[in-house]
Amino acid sequence: MREYVILAGKLVTPHRVLGKSYLRVKDGVIVEVGEDTPTGLPLSNTLNYRGLTVAPGFIDTHIHGYGGVDSNTGNAEHFLRMGKGLVKHGVTAFLPSTVTAPHEELLSACRAVKDAVSEWREGSARKEVPGARILGIHLEGPYLNPARKGVQNPAHIRGVSLKEILEYLGAAGGLLKMVTLAPEVRGALEAISLLVSKGVVVSVGHTNATYEEALKAFAAGASRATHLFNAMRPIHHRDPGVVIAALESTDVFIELIVDFTHLHPATVKFAINHAGTWRTVLISDAISAAGLPDGEYSLGGLKVIVKGGVARLVGGALAGSTLTLDAAVRNVVSLGYTLPEAARMASLNPARSLRLAGLGDVRPGYRADLAVLDDDLRVVATIVDGEVAYER
Ligand SMILES: [Zn+2]
Repeated sequence: MREYVILAGKLVTPHRVLGKSYLRVKDGVIVEVGEDTPTGLPLSNTLNYRGLTVAPGFIDTHIHGYGGVDSNTGNAEHFLRMGKGLVKHGVTAFLPSTVTAPHEELLSACRAVKDAVSEWREGSARKEVPGARILGIHLEGPYLNPARKGVQNPAHIRGVSLKEILEYLGAAGGLLKMVTLAPEVRGALEAISLLVSKGVVVSVGHTNATYEEALKAFAAGASRATHLFNAMRPIHHRDPGVVIAALESTDVFIELIVDFTHLHPATVKFAINHAGTWRTVLISDAISAAGLPDGEYSLGGLKVIVKGGVARLVGGALAGSTLTLDAAVRNVVSLGYTLPEAARMASLNPARSLRLAGLGDVRPGYRADLAVLDDDLRVVATIVDGEVAYER
């Protein structure tokens, strides 16, 4: 439908909750938001969600896989399939994330994502039922600290190579959106300068950085912290480390995995209450096992066992998650955060942290990327680029 109206029982934005309201959508873009009902509207041109809540679609900016697809080895068709699975969870955009791997494997992931983005755009132009929007690629590693490797394969963790970085930038054709690195690794500050000068967001993670080292990285242009607390030097009262440096740096976004396995609920509240809800970014860190039953999977060449939805290496270390962002939203709401705050953390802040224009909010000029939720915040429908991508 080129132009139509969505009737919402309740409209959640990152700023407020409106009661009965409507959105006018034209060519995939929100052109008007109003209360109650617009006048003079042919009923054939409406999507009626009067008993439901309409919210901005969730944006997952750190995700390694879903439904059997692994971001490291996926081809364009795999990423499109991943997007079609994620819309079941209200996710309207995602940033595939790789784990540490040999240079050639990461280069081919960059190329595959670039191809997937152009295929997604072509499909959208043909008005095919879309999957979630593919935003580009996040390289998590390989320039990490082996002391905080988490589930990153130590065989492929290596020193910073600006030459490799330039090749990733070339292979991704402008779609390298974020790199996670450990700022204390030799050459990391030069890498931050190079990446930031090319418009790439640098996130600090898998790091043993001290408080002082982390502040230097933020001063050099790093603007995000990868799954705060997980795979980084913990807080000690005489050694505050990267966690406190990130929490007190008001221009740094912090990622949180809110599955209540990676972080205790009190730790989640501690982080959100210190960083505030305008720079907290909910991520899934999901692996290919997300959306699939318990069993044996692999991640970056390491064996992962998923039991009760929790993914672990054979030694017991947490190995990513099977979380989806709709569940993360329900979890933060269960801690007492409001729906607008949840929309900030799951939609607006992910977009702002990657400087994605026109995504993550419900207001005129923004893409019509929406999640339709019931009273239990379960996903009833998902709209991507103005098209219904999923209906329960
Ligand atoms: Zn990750």
